[in-house]
Amino acid sequence: MINKLLGKGLDVESTKKLDHKKAIVKLLIDNENTIPEICQHLQLSVPTGTKLIQELLDGGILHNLGKKDDAITSGGRRPKLYGVNTKDYFIIGVDIQLQEINIAILNMKNELVKKTRYTSYNLQNSKECLQTTISIIADEIKAFDIDNNNILGMGVGITGRVKIATGDSYNFLHIDNKPLSHHFKESFDCPVYVENDTMIMTLGEQSFGLGQQLRNFVFVNLSKGLGLGIISEGTLHTGKSGYAGEFGHTHFFDNNRLCICGKKGCLGTEVSGHGMEEIFYEKIQKGEQSKLNPADFKKRINYHQIVNAAIEGDMTCMEIIQDLGFNLGKSLAGIINLLNPEAIILGGTCAEAGDVLKHSIQSGLQRFALPMPLKDCQIIISELGAKASLIGAGRLVLNEILNNG
Ligand SMILES: [Zn+2]
Repeated sequence: MINKLLGKGLDVESTKKLDHKKAIVKLLIDNENTIPEICQHLQLSVPTGTKLIQELLDGGILHNLGKKDDAITSGGRRPKLYGVNTKDYFIIGVDIQLQEINIAILNMKNELVKKTRYTSYNLQNSKECLQTTISIIADEIKAFDIDNNNILGMGVGITGRVKIATGDSYNFLHIDNKPLSHHFKESFDCPVYVENDTMIMTLGEQSFGLGQQLRNFVFVNLSKGLGLGIISEGTLHTGKSGYAGEFGHTHFFDNNRLCICGKKGCLGTEVSGHGMEEIFYEKIQKGEQSKLNPADFKKRINYHQIVNAAIEGDMTCMEIIQDLGFNLGKSLAGIINLLNPEAIILGGTCAEAGDVLKHSIQSGLQRFALPMPLKDCQIIISELGAKASLIGAGRLVLNEILNNG
């Protein structure tokens, strides 16, 4: 799709020419530029740059945005400004969580045009669940009325072990022994890239969030589970097969609690939304009081409610967050000692606990991290929140089609 757009109107595209066009589009996704700026940045001669840009304009992937206000060329004319076409081409971002699914339509600048959240969703490894997921996404695309030819690709973030190279999601929606990307490609007829949810959120933070200016940082996804994304020298560290960052499954507690991975004592058995819920019920059984009385609720109390009650000052819930934060700080001390990052960005739904969580993490870090790398590392709370995964999904598609597509 992208190659067709980049090569429209031409008989044969040389690889070098295609690469130059991709580099121009990549540059213009983040910044609108004039021809002299584009040529200077990409070290192209002005005649070559002008020709390539004209072809991209003819292909409809770039737009002429008018004259630039604050620059005058040596001839005294104001140069024209060029940018990507944000009106005709779109990316679908999908964030599949255990109990909800979020879908976004993003434009070519990776800006959210529309976002929808479905909370009546239960992720399972079944054919029925795959069909439901496909129907939800298809309805959303239909509602936005996009022609299939105008979809550049689909980025999918999903919990569990994912191999981006093959599009396999091994824990969920792994049906008929085929990659999830295969099933989605069959249904949506566009390029599909599948990645682990934490990895995709880390990309979102790096491209549009607090990680934009950072070369080395870690992103903590504290939601129902616990994951870690590592940006090292500006690049997402995926490991050999894409399974890096399974922080929640490092052994940490001698608590005899069984983790979903089948082992006992994993960090995520207590430091996660799931762990929060377990500990809350244990405290209530021991007779501790909370404004959240299970007898008042038809459904089991979830970690969102515990986080909100802590924010409102409920002592039992605050203690849960404080203990979790201290243990998270203690475990992150090892990450700081190991990687010397310039920041830890706290994200995921539990990060909404804000200062209560941050202060407890800092007290764990101060106790267990080496002072010098700790001094270099700021602890910050994500401002993108739930949007991180959808923006990251869009970025994944742009990266893949412009680097490898
Ligand atoms: Zn585990």
